[in-house]
Amino acid sequence: MKILVINAGSSSLKYQLIDMENENVLAKGLCDRIGLDGKFVHNANGEKLEMDHPMPNHAEAIKVVLAHLTDAKWGVIKDVAEISAVGHRVVNGGEVFVEATLMDAEKIDTLESLTEFAPLHNPAAVTGLRACLEVMGADVPQVTVYDTAFHYGMPKTAAIYPIPYEYYEKYGIRRFGAHGTSHGYVAGECAKLLGKDIKDLKIVTCHLGNGSSITAVDGGRCVDTSMGFTPLAGVLMGTRCGDIDPAVAMFIMNKENLTPDEMNNIMNKKSGALGLSGVSNDFRDLDAAASEGNERAQLALDMFTYQVTKYIGSYAAAMGGVDAIVFTAGIGENNNVMRSDIVKNLKFLGVEMNEEENSKRGEARVVSTPESKVKVCVIPTNEELAIARQTLAVINK
Ligand code: AMP
Repeated sequence: MKILVINAGSSSLKYQLIDMENENVLAKGLCDRIGLDGKFVHNANGEKLEMDHPMPNHAEAIKVVLAHLTDAKWGVIKDVAEISAVGHRVVNGGEVFVEATLMDAEKIDTLESLTEFAPLHNPAAVTGLRACLEVMGADVPQVTVYDTAFHYGMPKTAAIYPIPYEYYEKYGIRRFGAHGTSHGYVAGECAKLLGKDIKDLKIVTCHLGNGSSITAVDGGRCVDTSMGFTPLAGVLMGTRCGDIDPAVAMFIMNKENLTPDEMNNIMNKKSGALGLSGVSNDFRDLDAAASEGNERAQLALDMFTYQVTKYIGSYAAAMGGVDAIVFTAGIGENNNVMRSDIVKNLKFLGVEMNEEENSKRGEARVVSTPESKVKVCVIPTNEELAIARQTLAVINK
């Protein structure tokens, strides 16, 4: 059974075709600059194709993808009919779509009505869904997989904001969280790696990338997560401020005479590591600048380490203990110094890093010592595979 995973952006569309018998990726690629000049990248059969290819809209992009998946040279299947289902990544399902869902035209309209919860991302997913329906026909199941779904069941104590309750009732303002597909995936892989039933584990999953979020997973369920109503909350990120006193935003708006949109832009695009350091949003650049003596770059790195430590500690308290800490995503998977610094801060929990294992690169592994009371794992995230697995589960229902 083969599943096509689609991650649609406003002008891009990433795809993977996964054979679910062995979970192998048969082909993957990217349609970029859709509606502009169009760039197409396709990896299959050990080779890579890169070309300019005008794609005026997402439907045309899907056609290009399907044509290449079935192409004599670049293809990996003979017929589009071999694709059993399509899994679509969706950033926010609100309180309507709280699990992976088989879509139809009516449900796509409902999803469209949730645009204001993820104004940059949800419309692209809707466009991708409609494009697939148009090109592939109604017989191929189109399943949506939500980044918010894994977090949806968290207790109200973690989900609701202490503002007038009517805003939750009127507008649905609550903590949704993000990166849920990644957190759910690495928590599951962590249990497999440790040879334990996830129901018996308290895990803190740290998805640390350009956007970062931390989640408390108790018995396989999310009980709290650092991102909030939007992905602006939590630890500082590449360009996002994370948690700040909300009054700071009003203060700056008054002083600088800014509109809400302008302030939103500053908090999302000009803050975080970039705003602090004035150097870059990329942590590799920060490392390089800090090693040359740039104090603000060092401050950004130190603050990130401090804030991640605080979240892990608070989630250990929230769950009444922690059995495992998982690091994933660009920084979490690759920055062994950051991992080591965070774990050193958490020594009081009885966690101890095996520095030799920690300095290696590679696959999912345990990087704490055998004596460590809390296990530390590095697990490469694989959101596409997680989407394909959830899609399969939906169509098998
Ligand atoms: P992501 O959003 O998951 O792609 O992560 C992006 C972040 O990961 C950036 O801040 C990068 O600096 C960091 N990153 C990616 N690769 C590496 C690497 N090999 N070593 C250190 N940091 C990395």
